[in-house]
Amino acid sequence: MQPNDLYDEKTNANVDKIKLKEPTQTQGSASKEFVTRLAAYRQHLSSVNLQSGPALEGVVEGLLDSKDPQKDEEKIAAHRLRLKRELGPLVEEILTLEKRWLSNVCKAHESAEKHLADNQKVFTHLETLSKTFPPAQHTIDRLKEQRTLIKETWKPSRAKWTNLDRLETKIKKGVALQDQAVKLKAEIKKLCGNDYFEGLRRYLRGAGFIVAPSYIPPAAVFPRGDWISLESNEFKTPEELACAADALMMKYQVLGTSYSGMRYKSDVASDISGCVCISWVIAKCATNNKRVLVPVMGMSGGSPNGKEERFVDAMLGACALPPYRAYKYTSTIPTAEEKPEVQRFGENPFDQTRNPSSKDVEFNQYYDDIMVRANNLAINYRVRELLSLRLPSRQAMLSYLGLSFATMTNRDVEQTGSLAEPTPGVTRWHSFNCAEPAALAWISSFFVDGQDVHLCCPYEGADDPGALGLKPKETCPWCATVELTYRSLKKVSDSEQKRWPSTFDESMRTGKWAREFTGAREFKKQKTDLEQRVDLPRNKRTFASAYPSSVNDNVALLREIFKEVGLLKKSTIREEQLALWQQKR
Ligand SMILES: [Zn+2]
Repeated sequence: MQPNDLYDEKTNANVDKIKLKEPTQTQGSASKEFVTRLAAYRQHLSSVNLQSGPALEGVVEGLLDSKDPQKDEEKIAAHRLRLKRELGPLVEEILTLEKRWLSNVCKAHESAEKHLADNQKVFTHLETLSKTFPPAQHTIDRLKEQRTLIKETWKPSRAKWTNLDRLETKIKKGVALQDQAVKLKAEIKKLCGNDYFEGLRRYLRGAGFIVAPSYIPPAAVFPRGDWISLESNEFKTPEELACAADALMMKYQVLGTSYSGMRYKSDVASDISGCVCISWVIAKCATNNKRVLVPVMGMSGGSPNGKEERFVDAMLGACALPPYRAYKYTSTIPTAEEKPEVQRFGENPFDQTRNPSSKDVEFNQYYDDIMVRANNLAINYRVRELLSLRLPSRQAMLSYLGLSFATMTNRDVEQTGSLAEPTPGVTRWHSFNCAEPAALAWISSFFVDGQDVHLCCPYEGADDPGALGLKPKETCPWCATVELTYRSLKKVSDSEQKRWPSTFDESMRTGKWAREFTGAREFKKQKTDLEQRVDLPRNKRTFASAYPSSVNDNVALLREIFKEVGLLKKSTIREEQLALWQQKR
């Protein structure tokens, strides 16, 4: 059985000692793509060495504004020295986090390769079970009903006994099939263990997915055969991609059927599982230079729960975000007298909202914290650029701005069980537990670079997903704040509302849902942004909003902050871009 992947917190992983199969020896073409990227990056990382001096010097030079009007040589030298002293440890921390990320990811992938045969067994056993067992169970139930009916209502006759005999034979066959199923289930249990998400990881690995390690939330890159190849200038429409996502959901029976996908452990199709999203990423293959659309699955509810700092560290590391301990260097919030100008980032427009009489008073508490994080992001991005490391996607950076881990007290951690909570002004959502951040963290790991999601298609899993498991889920306001484009159910117009209950029932049966796509790539006007979100939760039977309007207000406000710090524009999106370490080669 494949052991859980552990997150090794070694302060400084030795990149040269990281074990990794040759790309040609990996099992499967998705794995080959992954390992090709990992191997090239390992080579690049081993060439970056801060201890020997020049790398750090280079970063310091790079961070110094070359257009600095300062002419005084002495002052420049002093500034350079201060920069080196103050930022040196942070630069080192970023590099350490990156090496630690690589070493842990490689270890988890080696383990997945080693246990592929076992995992394939899990998948085929479950596939057999889902195909044969529920129908057999259904038939036996029906035969037993017939038996009771004949016994109770038919008069004694030759026909009655012949019929009963025939039924007994059929029931016996069915029971034998059930016995086989019991054996199969026992073997699966042995291979999967008791942990739901670990079992799910093994099931998906067995199906050919490249799956995120146990220490970050569950996500998986679909097998290479499910990627869509694109010509040099070709694009797919959102509707085409949503249809393709539906087809993949059905191909792997992700939801809606027992003994498969998210319900691999359940005997009953209606058992609760988490929600799932299929995120499409546009990329260029490192193995053959072809343009592809890669589907990545994210699953909700499986975050290793950041009670411990190292899980937050692992998540930030996966997304190429600033290290958790970056706060150590930049989190001193200045008092009124010593307010240094350097702490101010996009100052003027938001000074108005700092007015304590403003209705946004709760949000304003987080103003300084958000500014500190914006600084962290800017430094982290520049350092990574200068060292040609992986860069964070815009979505990841927006998430980082919205998370308020630094403001949590120990008591908060005890109460919520988590170090990372979104800004309370937006929603008390544990965003690490959503399907979107799960996919995002694994995307920047699989592509060995942060990439934004071209289109996100979320599916309902916690609630009844319908017969085919294709019921669209409303994107939660938190994820909608950072996503580029997402699919949701089409708004029910006033004239359609009367017919809606029957339309809903029909869709639950057929899996066909009218959908629409919301693009949130740019920030136009706070009001437009707000209007787009007001009636997001539309996949319920009722028309009631799932979230109070204050949540939508705060989402719009938060996006305005994103814009103020310069992140909410097209140029910050990382889509179909070569990683810096690839450009260098
Ligand atoms: Zn969410």
